[in-house]
Amino acid sequence: MARRAEMQRPPHERSLRSLPAVSSLLAARALNALAARIGASLLTALLREHLAQLREEVRAGRVAGEALRRAVRPGTIAAEIERAAGEVLEPRPRPLINATGVIVHTNLGRATLSAAAAEQLAVAARGYLDLEYDRLDGRRGERLSHLEPVMRRLFPGHGFTVVNNNAAAVLLCLRALARGKQVIVSRGELVEIGGSFRVPEILVASGARLVEVGTTNRTSVKDYERALGPKTGLILKVHPSNFKIVGFVQQTPLAELARVARGAGVPLVVDWGSGALVDLAPLGIGDEIPVARLLEEGADVVTFSGDKLLGGPQAGFVVGRPELVERIRRDPLARTVRLDRILLGAVRQTLVAYVRGRAFEEVPTLRMLAATAAAIDRRARRVRRAVARRTPQAARMLSIVDGVSRTGGGSSPTGERPTRLLAISVPAGDAAAIGQRLRAGEPGIVGRMQEGRLLLDLRTVLPEQEPALVERLAAELRAAAPTRRER
Ligand SMILES: *Cc1c(COP(=O)(O)O)cnc(C)c1O
Repeated sequence: MARRAEMQRPPHERSLRSLPAVSSLLAARALNALAARIGASLLTALLREHLAQLREEVRAGRVAGEALRRAVRPGTIAAEIERAAGEVLEPRPRPLINATGVIVHTNLGRATLSAAAAEQLAVAARGYLDLEYDRLDGRRGERLSHLEPVMRRLFPGHGFTVVNNNAAAVLLCLRALARGKQVIVSRGELVEIGGSFRVPEILVASGARLVEVGTTNRTSVKDYERALGPKTGLILKVHPSNFKIVGFVQQTPLAELARVARGAGVPLVVDWGSGALVDLAPLGIGDEIPVARLLEEGADVVTFSGDKLLGGPQAGFVVGRPELVERIRRDPLARTVRLDRILLGAVRQTLVAYVRGRAFEEVPTLRMLAATAAAIDRRARRVRRAVARRTPQAARMLSIVDGVSRTGGGSSPTGERPTRLLAISVPAGDAAAIGQRLRAGEPGIVGRMQEGRLLLDLRTVLPEQEPALVERLAAELRAAAPTRRER
């Protein structure tokens, strides 16, 4: 009787009863060993989720028979759980090798820090600090006082503050200096930087009112002058960053804009995005005027990022006339966007490299920018030789060709540097598939595809990453090109 009832059930119901119980699985050796590694509570939770999912699949008829018998083995389940536990427990984000040649790559984390800055980061993370503490009288001190001796050298006579990022710096400036007032901006500078930083929207969020002047391609001094009035709070100039207007173009020179602003008694605020501290014109990057020169030419306040061309940790700088900066520092919103305590020391050590005149040697972003095509060519050849030593059949897949690296990351759109690229082509295969495997493996390697070839630019590969690049490339190309004997 019972047997007949059993036979009459839909087959998946019988299968459902073959699913093991959590308690019996926990007793199995394979899972018991896992408990020691990932913790009993996570193990139990993942087991429940896994079994629930399996139950769903059995009900839907997607898993049955031999596949089901395999799926319920403790060994199979342990492997599944281990993979799922990795998603939770492994450190992330994971390190990557950036072989794209885009130096300030927003999606890959922008700037890599100098050794001194990275060291300071570790020190700050591990213990107490004299962060806001005066050691002489044992009373409360100022967080930003640690940056004062350095910022005074870089921007003599100017005030400064440093916040969480440049978007916050811009918002704070507009709020502190122009809330409830009008802000005049050229139509050619109402840009979106990416990551949803849109100048018009930040302006609205700050409580200021946008007054657009000129046209997309041309804005003259007269346009600014006509817009000035009793309600004007400030004139804002924005670095167009990742965007360039070419052809019939006119922009108002900064010095003239400064004269107009001074005549009207309103501040000229410049959002300079990348914020280079040194002159990059000798490298062929002309539109990244150094911040100090903007101040000399009459900007009252300049804001810029810490982790673009400056090459430090994520931060937003505000530098300018002391009385204006003081108002910005005292804005109630300043506390909500203050600079992280762990990053503070790394910001300082990055700036120290500039004070010592060592930025092109010590700050990776500038070192990458300054590297010549000849130096990159030597590195590319070295990598090719090392890969070919490990995988002789890879030699004919690797060539070295001319190309360009980019500054990237919302910096100068015309910021290109000639480079030499390691090009990978797979005669009867798929270079894109190799590109995908290089990205997915450990450490991940990101290149770019062009005309069926995978291109790797050593400009953005850190020297200490080169051995790992060689090993992974040799292994992937070995898999892509079997030896004669294997064929
Ligand atoms: C990048 C950029 C920003 C935003 O800076 P974050 O540091 O990313 O917040 C703002 N303005 C300009 C002109 C930029 O280029």
